[in-house]
Amino acid sequence: MRTLVPLLAGALLAVAPPASTPPAAPGAAPDLPPGIIEVRLFDPYRLLSDEVEAAIREEAAWAFAETGVPLRFVGAAGGDVIPATVYPEIPDHWTPDAEAIGVAIGTPGRPRSVFLSVGAAERALGIRGPRRGPGFRDSAPAMGGRRFGVALGRVLAHELTHVIAPSCPHTASGLMAPRFSRHDLTAPQFGFDDLAARYLREAAAVGASG
Ligand SMILES: [Zn+2]
Repeated sequence: MRTLVPLLAGALLAVAPPASTPPAAPGAAPDLPPGIIEVRLFDPYRLLSDEVEAAIREEAAWAFAETGVPLRFVGAAGGDVIPATVYPEIPDHWTPDAEAIGVAIGTPGRPRSVFLSVGAAERALGIRGPRRGPGFRDSAPAMGGRRFGVALGRVLAHELTHVIAPSCPHTASGLMAPRFSRHDLTAPQFGFDDLAARYLREAAAVGASG
């Protein structure tokens, strides 16, 4: 049985177009150097071990590099830096789906911030962790090691795409699929499909020119 894990949900955000009217795919990418996407990974609850955090960064950066759009992590907020914050659990009022691992939040169609749920990721991977409420402030690092970081890195890459390329639809396969199986979260070399990669290149090129 496949365990399907919802990725994006959020009452503040509507990103999926009606299935009957898929948006036109962008054409060939303009001859502009793609802008560098800058992300600040913020772990205010100290949920991540160094190994997990390194794996998150490596996995997300690899997925974007495969599309030709460079992504780097920075240590400070500001400018166009996209904040990605790690929570014990995503608050219920941010998402109608308690098992969503990630959410991109902002005004409709223009999300500006990403949130990740360690608790939902642990449950998706079958890691036995405590159900953590909003008041959870234990300093113990999350379990799961590198495999856990790879899974969170993939969810981060998905949600960042909603921020960077809001018009990109969910795709049938790859990192922009609306739900991931446990296999998707852990198997080697799971990247964006061609459609999502084109949206990312187009968005990065527009960002670089503007
Ligand atoms: Zn999504």
